[in-house]
This record gives sequence, structure tokens and C-alpha cells, in this order.
Amino acid sequence: METEELRSRACLIRADLIKMLAGAGSGHTGGPMGTADMFTALYFGGLLKYDPKNPSWPERDYFVLSNGHICPILYVTLAHAGFFPVEELSTLRRLGTRLQGHPHRLDTPGVEVSAGSLGQGISVAVGMAMGLKSDGKPNQVVCMTGDGELEEGSCWEAFMAAARYALDNLTVIVDRNYLQIDGHTDLYVSSLDPLDEKFRAFNFDTYACDGNNMADFIDTFHKARAARGKPRVIIARTVMGKGVSFMEDDHAWHGKPPNAQEAELALQELGVSKGC
Ligand SMILES: [Mg+2]
Repeated sequence: METEELRSRACLIRADLIKMLAGAGSGHTGGPMGTADMFTALYFGGLLKYDPKNPSWPERDYFVLSNGHICPILYVTLAHAGFFPVEELSTLRRLGTRLQGHPHRLDTPGVEVSAGSLGQGISVAVGMAMGLKSDGKPNQVVCMTGDGELEEGSCWEAFMAAARYALDNLTVIVDRNYLQIDGHTDLYVSSLDPLDEKFRAFNFDTYACDGNNMADFIDTFHKARAARGKPRVIIARTVMGKGVSFMEDDHAWHGKPPNAQEAELALQELGVSKGC
């Protein structure tokens, strides 16, 4: 897909996010909206190998969403990619659904790891990368994490192990929106900056990009993936709630859905009636 097509796809994905969350009346909005461009690039920009008709295809790349609470974006992306019908998105968080409030590996096609307990998905991703490397397999592991999640000490234990075993089949993407449930990561909660220097001190190759700029993210991803000898991290600057003015850069949208009126306004802003 060309970049313009990817932008259009990201817009349609954001629109389905809004509809799904408003319909459920529950769920996380800010992180999913902010990462929609990166998810679109990963699944539609040729960055991940996958087969929606055979989710356990042995040659696939493994995508681990460690900050599991932003799973609405994973669900919409997987539906658009053909893992399950788009119509199923309307079952989010309902009794008996395959689309739970936090992702469940055994329920949802395309979900590799059950996540939501912050700090644990990264360890699983490191274990996957170790196993693949020791088996001499070429599959790549891509793990997304939130910046708030990085306040969990277990993340850094996993990063130390990744460097110790020189896991150059592991790419960590940090959704660096400087926000978490309680507010600004560095001003009100903890101090993550200088984040790139922290990762370098943990023997990672580090890359930075604008996670809401499709071309920049794709270019950075290719560069990062070409490097050898170390695990690598892409610190992707994003805006929580990206695409809807009254949601952008406001941590109040971390964990709440839009109501019907807000959803209508959001869809208008996205330009859905004009085809995105
Ligand atoms: Mg954050």
C-alpha cells in the first residue's frame, strides 16, 4: 500500500474505533487513537508477516501488545486485516465475546499474548525471541509498550535479558505520548527521560520517530530492523487521541469511550462521510 492509501486506511480504522467504543459504552480510546497510524503501518505497510486465514502460520512474525488495555486498536486492525469479520467489533466487551476488555490469546485470532498486567508482555516477547533465535528461525518479534508501562521494573529486567542474549530479532516500540492514566508521565508520575539514553545504557540500539507520521515510522522501522547484534527500540512520539481535536493530548481519554454525541462529532472531524 502507498502512504496515501495507508493514511486513508488509518482514518477508516479510527472511525471503526470510535463506533466500536461508543457502541460498547466502555473501553480505552486515547491510546488506540494515538497508535492507529503505527498499527496501520505494521499490518498494511508490509512490516509484519502474517496470514489472517492461518493465524498460527509458523513463518509469521510475532506481534506482542504488552500494554494490553489499548487492545481496541489491535481488534480493529485485525478485523480490517481479515482475521475475523469487521461486524464482530460491535461485540466488544459483551458477555461471551471474543473481544474482551483486555486481549485473550485463546479467544481472538491474531492475538499472540494475553496482556493487561503491565510489564509482563515484554518478558513474554523476550522469551519468544530467545526461543526463535535458539531454534535458528528467522521470525521477528515486535513488541509494543506504553511509556506509562515502562515504570514497571519488570520491563527493565526483560530488557537486560534481551541485551544479554543479543536478541536482534526483537523490536520494541514505545508509544511515547507522555501520558498515562494519572496524567503526564514525567511531570506527575515518574521520570522516564532521557528514555533513549536509558535504553542505550541497557545495550539497545535506539531509534526515534514521529509515530503519527506514516512515512517516518515505516522508514525508521526498516532501518531498525536492518541492524544486527542487539535488540532495538523505536521510541515513537505520538499524540494520545490523535485525529479528534477534543481528545488529543488529554489523559482524560485514557480509559473512557465517547458518548453518542462525542462519537458523532469525532466521525465528522475524521471526515468519514466524505470517505476519509
Ligand atoms: Mg502513555
